[in-house]
Amino acid sequence: MTAQTRTVSQIITPMRVIEGAGVLLKRSIATRTLDYLDPFLLLDHFGSDDPADYLAGFPMHPHRGIETVTYMLAGRVTHKDSLGNHGTLGGGDVQWMTAGGGIMHEEMPEPYEGKMEGFQLWVNLPAKLKMTKPRYQDIISADIPVVELPGGVKVRLIAGYYGVTSGAVTDIYADPTYLDVTLPPETSFSHSIPADHAVFAYLFRGNGLFGAKAIAAEAPQLVIFGDGETVKVQASTAGARFLLVSGLPLGEPIARYGPFVMNTREEINQALMELRDGTFIKSSN
Ligand code: MN
Repeated sequence: MTAQTRTVSQIITPMRVIEGAGVLLKRSIATRTLDYLDPFLLLDHFGSDDPADYLAGFPMHPHRGIETVTYMLAGRVTHKDSLGNHGTLGGGDVQWMTAGGGIMHEEMPEPYEGKMEGFQLWVNLPAKLKMTKPRYQDIISADIPVVELPGGVKVRLIAGYYGVTSGAVTDIYADPTYLDVTLPPETSFSHSIPADHAVFAYLFRGNGLFGAKAIAAEAPQLVIFGDGETVKVQASTAGARFLLVSGLPLGEPIARYGPFVMNTREEINQALMELRDGTFIKSSN
């Protein structure tokens, strides 16, 4: 018996939103159309040829109860945080940040060779890990495995597996897949994803046909897959480039308030109270 090919359940065109101190974004998860795609809480695509759209950045702000995943295509993001970390993410680099019980950080985009573009994905943590110790996995571009397939198809393996090749980011609760797939014109790609995972593709270049029924999408669009295992994508004449992301749904209640995502309203109130009285960052961290 062959694994069932997933069909497309929804296609979403991102909304333009202003976030941080004035950064123009394309948001496709965490909108009125799609609040939550368990375990994914938010997906932002940032980038512009005009630095005025992003230079204000994301000054010092807290997070609790989630993981934030920043993947850069071009440009740079300089960052520093309450753990004493600081650094710069460049084109092709990824940072998988587990906020856990609490972190304060700053994320400031800047152009490099005139360009700046990337993504931020928020991954939910289960109740038992919401207050875990914060940690980072910072991976430079050169350390992300690349799988080259026939026809010029290229897969950057940020998390998960392609065949026996393991992604750069490991030990994440959601057991995520996070691939950056480049398809030359009229090539195709298929990949098996565990049947219990939620799966989406974020198409950010070109156009293509998705899923068992070959539903058309054009960049930038979020393509959500339904039940099944195998994910199929065929690039059209312009080629296609997309993120392919999956994760294990938590099935837990969520209470969200800006940068905090907990299970109950009381836990949100607790976070706000701790921010006010200066106990948000735990000394044991
Ligand atoms: Mn942040």
